[in-house]
Amino acid sequence: MAGRIPQHFIDELLNRIDIVDIIDSLVPLRKAGRDYQARCPFHEENTPSFTVSQNKQFYHCFGCGANGSAIGFLMDYEHMDFVEAVTELARRSGMELPTTEYSNTTSKSGPDLHPIMQAATNFYQQQLKQHPEAGKAVDYLKQRGLTGEIAARFGIGFAPPGWDNLDKALGNNKQNQQQLVTTGMSIAKDDGGQYDRFRNRIMFPIRDRRGRVIAFGGRVIDKEDNPKYLNSPESPLFHKGKQLYGLYETKQALRQIDRLLVVEGYMDVVALAQHGIYYAVATLGTALTPDHLQPLFRTSSEVVFCFDGDRAGRDAAWKALDIMLPELKGGRTARFMFLADGEDPDSLIRQIGQQAFEEKIVSAISLSEFLLQNLSQRVDMSAIDGRARLIDLARPKLTKISNHIFKHMIITELANRIGMPSTELISLLGEKPATQIYNRALAKPAGESRKPSPVRSIISLLLEQPQLAQQEPNPERFLELKEPGIKLLVELLELIQQKPSISCGAILEHWRDRPEGKHLNKLALSASTIPSEGYEHEFQDALRHLDKQRVERAYNQLLRKSENNRLSPEDKKQLTELLIEKQSLSQSVPRIDENQK
Ligand SMILES: [Zn+2]
Repeated sequence: MAGRIPQHFIDELLNRIDIVDIIDSLVPLRKAGRDYQARCPFHEENTPSFTVSQNKQFYHCFGCGANGSAIGFLMDYEHMDFVEAVTELARRSGMELPTTEYSNTTSKSGPDLHPIMQAATNFYQQQLKQHPEAGKAVDYLKQRGLTGEIAARFGIGFAPPGWDNLDKALGNNKQNQQQLVTTGMSIAKDDGGQYDRFRNRIMFPIRDRRGRVIAFGGRVIDKEDNPKYLNSPESPLFHKGKQLYGLYETKQALRQIDRLLVVEGYMDVVALAQHGIYYAVATLGTALTPDHLQPLFRTSSEVVFCFDGDRAGRDAAWKALDIMLPELKGGRTARFMFLADGEDPDSLIRQIGQQAFEEKIVSAISLSEFLLQNLSQRVDMSAIDGRARLIDLARPKLTKISNHIFKHMIITELANRIGMPSTELISLLGEKPATQIYNRALAKPAGESRKPSPVRSIISLLLEQPQLAQQEPNPERFLELKEPGIKLLVELLELIQQKPSISCGAILEHWRDRPEGKHLNKLALSASTIPSEGYEHEFQDALRHLDKQRVERAYNQLLRKSENNRLSPEDKKQLTELLIEKQSLSQSVPRIDENQK
């Protein structure tokens, strides 16, 4: 993968900083025993269940389950992406990030295009203040009720009429001219030369998550000009289907983002901000894509999508629903808000004001309600075959939902509408009964009374006290075992041996993008039931368990072989060795158990 920050840099970084300082600077912590506590910044609570362990360099909340390293904390609390969080920590600790460009919006090679985009932003802003024809742009903005403060916050500017204003201002050498073309700010002519793409327009800079300008949207001032809205084309910096206008500005304006409102255009975003709604973002002239969902839900667990109330708006909402069904998990809420025909958020908020507008946002229809409403409208609900047809219509939608609890809630609601016992509908749809799913979902956090497997307990102990790994210098032998998690365990032991002072938080960063990371996280959370004095014994005991399994397995294999074939001299030698090992293992176990019990 291009542009990855080297893992050794992250190890070193996490080794240098202290998670307690980092979090304490944002959420004041109080010492409580060995750890530090605060009221959780990620959920509402009265008594602190948010805990930061200096020892493990790891935070976690018993209430909402939030957890992670210092990097993870910045990502969640400051709504940063991974690279941003690492950059910020590096800045604080005085470490220099290795000099590669890590942004995934920048091409691997080629010049950095951000400076020329910033220069263009400055140029347009200056023109809005100075150009002799800027008056009509200013009038337009004023007529829309925008103050200078909001215009400045969004970096709004003016591209004057004429073919080469920007080109003259910035294209003073070949390289800059080339960059203007590459970023789509200029259009190359067939006979050489180039001209400005944006002319006589109000300019809205489109910023990425880090606040860098990557593209522009331009709106006409004269009604007869076309098209009304013109966006930068796709470029090495700009990928339409991934960007959300206003997300950076939202994060700048609000510390805590309880909700995001997704609207269609940049003028809507700006107008809403003007009226005190700072959490609106816009897709850029494209329908919602799966790539939009990740930044949305990472910023806020509740997202309200605003659509026109007409046929086209309803269709767009239906398509958005399809994209969202697989993504609705763990506390994510999506709702749909429909505007009256001919209305847009800009006109509506100017008419009814912030409070009434927010009431509409709050009462927006839930995704599940929209789904069922929409499907019900397609059939005759008063007829039996109409209701049967509804089940058929719902089936393909239901299969897209990955979250089982959410799926069962919808099925239950569907059963209500059809007038059928939900258990019957569930078996008709071939789903597992809800009780099974609820029980499974509830049983896990409620306390694992079953003794964890040796692999699990070794991993938990290593995350609690990584130095234990030094007691097991040859973990590769366990790879013979087919136990789940054994590869992970061996890898973990080897990692800690290479980096003896690594913390739990830094270990977890090694698995950030790997599926096993989830399991590690869970194991890091499962608070050990034994006091820390017992760790070493528990660790040795679990290792011995694994050794016993390993020896047993090899021994049985040889025995089976001996039933069919004669054993080779090496086999026999191995058998003897295994027997000795078996004996020593069975002797040592009870002895140590006696000491403990
Ligand atoms: Zn919490």
